[in-house]
Amino acid sequence: MNASSAGELDTQWRVVRADFEQSVTSLSQLPHDQLVEVAFVGRSNAGKSSLLNALCRQRALARVSKTPGRTQAINLFSVKMAQGVGGEQSVIRFADLPGYGYAKVSAQVQRQWTQLLTDYLQSRDTLQLIIVVHDIRREISAEESWFFEFGIAPALVALSKADKVNRSERNAARAKVARALACPADSVIAISSQEFSDPGLAELANAIAHASGA
Ligand code: GDP
Repeated sequence: MNASSAGELDTQWRVVRADFEQSVTSLSQLPHDQLVEVAFVGRSNAGKSSLLNALCRQRALARVSKTPGRTQAINLFSVKMAQGVGGEQSVIRFADLPGYGYAKVSAQVQRQWTQLLTDYLQSRDTLQLIIVVHDIRREISAEESWFFEFGIAPALVALSKADKVNRSERNAARAKVARALACPADSVIAISSQEFSDPGLAELANAIAHASGA
C-alpha cells in the first residue's frame, strides 16, 4: 500500500484560505492580537512574492514585480491552514517583510526598509518562524546568515527557483546552504513557485504548520 492509497491518513498541511489584512509602515500599526506570525524575508527579486502566491494558491495575493523607489511596507495576510481533508485547522498570519538589497533605490530608502525589517524581527512577540527566501543559484551572503544568527525565532530557508537547476544541483545547493548557515539540512527546502503542485511547497506548508504549533 502506498501513501496515496484509499484509507490512508492524509497528514499534509496546506493553505486553504488567505486574505490580505493590512499594510503597515510602522510597528505601532501592527495588530495586537495573539495570532501566530510567520515572517517572509528575502533579497529583492529572490521570489518572495511568487512564493507567497504559490503557497496560498493565489495568483495575485502578493504582488510580483516592483516599482522602484516606492515606500515599502510590511504586508499582513490572514492564513487558514488545514491538515488533509476535513482534518485539523489552524489560523495564522503571514508577514511579508520588505525585500533587502534592492539596487535601484537610494541608500537612504534601503536603510529605512532594513530598519523596519530589523525592528519588526527584534520586537514582534508573536513571531514563530522566519522564512528566508533565497535564489537557489546565488551564494549565501551576510544578510541571510544574520537571520540565522539572530536567534529570535527559528528560521527556514526556501531555496527559490529550484526549477532553474537539475536534481543534483538542487541537492548540492541544499547541502551547501545548510553548511554555510550551520543549520540542519531539513531547514533548507528547495521550492519552485511555477506550479502549485510543487513538492517543495507542500514540504514548506508542513514545516510552517508544525512550527506554528499545529
Ligand atoms: P520578490 O522581489 O522576492 O518578491 O520576487 P518576485 O516574486 O517578484 O520574483 C522575481 C522574479 O523571479 C519574477 O520574474 C518571477 O517570475 C521569478 N520567479 C519567482 N519565483 C520563481 C520560481 O520558482 N521559478 C522561476 N522560474 N521563476 C521565479
